[in-house]
Amino acid sequence: MVPFKYISPKTKNEVLEILKEEKVKACIVAGCTNVLPNIRDKKIVSKVLVDISDIEELRGISKEKDKVCIGPLTTIAELTNSEAISKEGEVLYQAAEQFADPIVRNNATVGGNLVTASPAADMAVPLLTLDAILKIESIERKRGVRLKDFFIGPEKTILREDEMITGIEFESSNINKNGCFIKLGLRKAMAIAVASIAVNLEVRENKIAQVRIAMGSVAPTPIRLTVVEGFLKNKEVNSNGLIEEAINKVREEVDPISDIRASAEYRRYVSGILFKRAFNKLT
Ligand SMILES: Cc1cc2nc3c(=O)[nH]c(=O)nc-3n(C[C@H](O)[C@H](O)[C@H](O)COP(=O)(O)OP(=O)(O)OC[C@H]3O[C@@H](n4cnc5c(N)ncnc54)[C@H](O)[C@@H]3O)c2cc1C
Repeated sequence: MVPFKYISPKTKNEVLEILKEEKVKACIVAGCTNVLPNIRDKKIVSKVLVDISDIEELRGISKEKDKVCIGPLTTIAELTNSEAISKEGEVLYQAAEQFADPIVRNNATVGGNLVTASPAADMAVPLLTLDAILKIESIERKRGVRLKDFFIGPEKTILREDEMITGIEFESSNINKNGCFIKLGLRKAMAIAVASIAVNLEVRENKIAQVRIAMGSVAPTPIRLTVVEGFLKNKEVNSNGLIEEAINKVREEVDPISDIRASAEYRRYVSGILFKRAFNKLT
C-alpha cells in the first residue's frame, strides 16, 4: 500500500501554507472524482492529500454589480440550481446540465474540472466563451489569469506547485447572456465529449458585434477559435455564404487527434457541424 498523508485544513490560508511547505508533494482534493481514480490507477503516489472540501470561503455563487463570482469548490449540481448562472451565463448552465450524472454532479467541482485540464473538460469550454478570469493565489502573491491563458497542454496548466484557484469570475454582459453549448458524445449520458462547442454571440443592428467560440476534444487543450471569431466580427448575421465560410474556417482552426472515441478526420468534420448548429440556435 502506498503511503498517503491526509490533511483537512479549515481555511484558505492554511491550504496556502501547506502548499508552500509541501510543494510538489501536495495534492489538493476537492470533489475527488479525478483524484480517486488516479490514486487507484497509481498515477498519484506518495502524496500529501490536502482536502479542501470543508472550506466554505471557496464555495458558492454570487452576483456582484457587474460580475458573477464562482467559488472553485462549487459543484456542477450547484451550477444547475443557480439562477445567476442560468441568467448571466446560460452557456455554463447548459454544460452543467449535460455533465456526467447526478451523483458525479453532486461531487465534481468547477475548480477541479479546470485544473484537471482535460481537452474534453466540460466546464472549460463554456467558461472560455464567457471570457472567465481565474483568481490564483499562493501565500506570497495573488494574480488574475484569463482562462484562455491557463491551459498549456493536455493535463497541464500554468498553475505553480504552491498555487491554487480561489475564484472564477465572468462579466455580467449582453454577450455572456446569449450562449449555446453542445456536447457530442458516444451516448446520451456519462459520456466524454467526442467534440463539444460553446458559442456566445451579441448581435446589434443585424451585425455580429461580438462573438466568442470555444471547443473541447478537438485540440491538446480546450481552445478559443480566435481566427473564426475575427472572421465573423462585424459581418451581417444573415449574409450569403457566411456560415459555409465559417464552417471551413472552424475545420481549419481545430487540431484534433484520433483516439478510441473518434478519428481526427471525424472530429474535424463534426466541428463544423457543431458550429453551424450552435450559431443557428443563437440567430
Ligand atoms: C464517472 C465520471 C464521470 C465524469 N464525467 C465528466 C463529464 O461529463 N465532463 C467532464 O468534464 N468531466 C467528467 N468527469 C471528470 C471529473 O468529474 C471532473 O473533471 C470534475 O469536475 C473534477 O472535479 P473534482 O472536484 O472531483 O476534482 P478532484 O478530483 O478533487 O481534483 C482534480 C484536480 O484538480 C486539483 N484541484 C481541485 N481543486 C483545486 C483548486 N481549487 N485549486 C488548485 N487545484 C485544484 C486537484 O489537485 C486535482 O489535481 C467524470 C469523472 C467520473 C469519475
